[in-house]
Amino acid sequence: MSTFSQEENWNRSKMERLQQERLKETIERVYHHVPFYRKAFQQLNVTPDDIQSLEDIQQLPFTKKRHLRENYPFSLLATPMEEVVRIHASSGTSGKPTVVAYTKNDMEHWGEIVARSIFMAGGRRGDILHNAFGYGLFTGGLGIHNGSEHLGCATVPISGGNTSKQITLIQDFCPRVICSTPSYLLNIGETMKSKGIDPASTSLEFAILGAEPWSEEMRNNIEEMFGIKAADIYGLSEVMGPGVAMECIDCQEGLHIADDHFLVEVIDPETLRPVPDGEDGELVFTSLTKEALPIIRYRTGDISSITRGKCACGRTTTKMSRVKGRIDDMLIIRGVNVFPSEIERYICDMDELAPHYQIHLQKKGVMDHAELHVEVCENFFELLPMEDFNHPTAQELTKRIQRSIKMEALVSMDVYLEKPKAIPRSEGKAKRIVDLRSNVSTPL
Ligand SMILES: [Zn+2]
Repeated sequence: MSTFSQEENWNRSKMERLQQERLKETIERVYHHVPFYRKAFQQLNVTPDDIQSLEDIQQLPFTKKRHLRENYPFSLLATPMEEVVRIHASSGTSGKPTVVAYTKNDMEHWGEIVARSIFMAGGRRGDILHNAFGYGLFTGGLGIHNGSEHLGCATVPISGGNTSKQITLIQDFCPRVICSTPSYLLNIGETMKSKGIDPASTSLEFAILGAEPWSEEMRNNIEEMFGIKAADIYGLSEVMGPGVAMECIDCQEGLHIADDHFLVEVIDPETLRPVPDGEDGELVFTSLTKEALPIIRYRTGDISSITRGKCACGRTTTKMSRVKGRIDDMLIIRGVNVFPSEIERYICDMDELAPHYQIHLQKKGVMDHAELHVEVCENFFELLPMEDFNHPTAQELTKRIQRSIKMEALVSMDVYLEKPKAIPRSEGKAKRIVDLRSNVSTPL
């Protein structure tokens, strides 16, 4: 089985030796060049010499998003600005954005890791790659762009939005690979259909989708609609950007972490202790090669589990399960925890529904109250007498959705059926939650 980089097939002990060496270098770098880390190490009474094995990493402090904000804009840099060639920032929903920076070497590594990811998803040198991730301060667009060029793909930097133009270029340029958020690709597919174009008739063969949580059922919908194979890409700007982990198209079961560049841990978010392999917890990453902004034990807030061992594709790198959701996005409805992606699974499973939904949160008295607004599909709507949602057929469907969510996710939600196209379409990250409790919307 072919891979883009030889490190992907290394045996575990060889990989661990490299990780240990690189971990030591990273720790020296932050201890001597980043006052924030030096202070945090000193508070825990740890010096770089105390870290002799990969397990010793547990002695080190965690980094959280707020630490990046508190050190805005450049206080976490471990190199002088003269060595920085790229700066990105993530949009802060509240307060200051988080800023990340890259040296020339960092850009090289990132390019290689993303090239590896595109290769893993089916892309090859010489392919045309249509990149519909947003360009700009967000790492998605430019991160994929860099890796796509590194692999040797003819890269189309269309960015998100302008769906008609996306469709024209897909038809005229005949790309083999498309990169996007899952919700936006769905939007492109539906817009094609409304113009009388069959999405399965295009040249596309592979999709690299990410930047928002999505379900297996959503994958099935997209693959069927376009007649393609779709793989999940994972990354976050604080750790590097897209490419931290990538699903192999051979198995489509779990994402390969770039072990030679990132050390992964999974912790219990309450006790902060490591959880055993295979069990769900919060992903924590330490960068092993980054120069401009090395990061130690970054708490991602993403819930996943990891496994080690050889994958059927031949790769030996650590695998993480598809991210269930972010701790921040987890809804607590009357004491029950639920991720929007779990609700999505039930929706995608029902033939009468379209994969478009929003969850509205409100306060009723002191209780949180959730409403699920979900679109019915065209066929159901056309057959519904008088297009009337009070008709017994619609009422029966509403009850069935409610029951299924209650039984499977253990939460009670009021369900409202919506006409086709009533839910706003995504041109980037889908807005799944509308929080009316404080009149603020939280994009996922
Ligand atoms: Zn694999």
